[in-house]
Amino acid sequence: MTTIAFIGLGHMGAPMAANLVKSGATVKVFDLVPETMKSLTELGALSAPTACGAAAGADVVITMLPAGKHVRSLYLGEGSSEKGLLDIVASGTLLIDCSTIDAQSAKLVAEVAASKGLEFIDAPVSGGTAGAAAGTLTFICGGSDLAFEQASKVLTHMGANILHAGGPGAGQVAKICNNMLLSVLMIATSESLQMGIDHGLDPKVLSEIMKVSSGGNWTLDKYNPCPEVMGSVPSSNGYQGGFMVDLMVKDLGLSQEAALLSNSSTPMGALARSLYVNHARQGNGERDFSSIFEQFNNVKQIKSKG
Ligand code: NAD
Repeated sequence: MTTIAFIGLGHMGAPMAANLVKSGATVKVFDLVPETMKSLTELGALSAPTACGAAAGADVVITMLPAGKHVRSLYLGEGSSEKGLLDIVASGTLLIDCSTIDAQSAKLVAEVAASKGLEFIDAPVSGGTAGAAAGTLTFICGGSDLAFEQASKVLTHMGANILHAGGPGAGQVAKICNNMLLSVLMIATSESLQMGIDHGLDPKVLSEIMKVSSGGNWTLDKYNPCPEVMGSVPSSNGYQGGFMVDLMVKDLGLSQEAALLSNSSTPMGALARSLYVNHARQGNGERDFSSIFEQFNNVKQIKSKG
């Protein structure tokens, strides 16, 4: 039976690890916050006292950490008194990082892993906490064909779509390209809906028109930002749950760092980052990213008060 080490049991990691336990694999878990391991051990996972303790002897190591510095520290031992995972795992161990981080860090870890004869794959996800719980995440992978083939067999227990973007780091680049586009679509959809409302249109009717016209896009189909247009989406639930503004700000920051590195022109992405930073600074960091709609909605309220 496959032994999987799962390190990083936050909002995403815990439900992902739970799905692996349910698949019948032996799962060894570790997080710096010991309480996060409790729900997993209740399901049948084994807790380890350290990250290295979880990874030693595992066939596969999966990490789900906040940012690039955490990934570099854990795998390479960078800035840490502990050994890196790459120094202790057995040869043949497959390493899969599902965190959303900068592509440079992913490439660096992949390079050091390769120098030790190990396969490392970057596999950031799309689908949020709901997708993590339901096991329907999209994994966007970067790494060799062989590593992708091996990783797919494990990732399939946590996701519905397992995609290969290219070599090391390509998963991270594809993920931030997608999220940059998503942010722009969300903002443009919000301002369009509000302009229609300002002219007396019913946002439900306007949404249906745009959905089947040339402005149709994912946010109108699945995630309408205007309250009460669509059931079961964060906008109809006070913008609770879903994908946090703070995480969108993080991803847009990564997109702009990537644009600088490649000298790419991303004016819409730059503006989207600025608008989302502003929205977060107004106390919306923990709300769903579709709450950006209120930036346009509030303009009208302020105007009508005056
Ligand atoms: P989180 O902050 O809830 O969880 C991160 C976990 O990592 C924490 O429990 C923390 O204690 C642990 N951790 C940090 N350093 C560690 C170390 N050295 N060893 C062991 N554990 C360590 O974050 P999250 O929401 O689960 O997100 C994780 C990653 O997934 C991020 O990169 C995020 O951008 C990405 N992501 C999140 C979502 C989402 O909706 N939350 C969606 C897509 C992608």
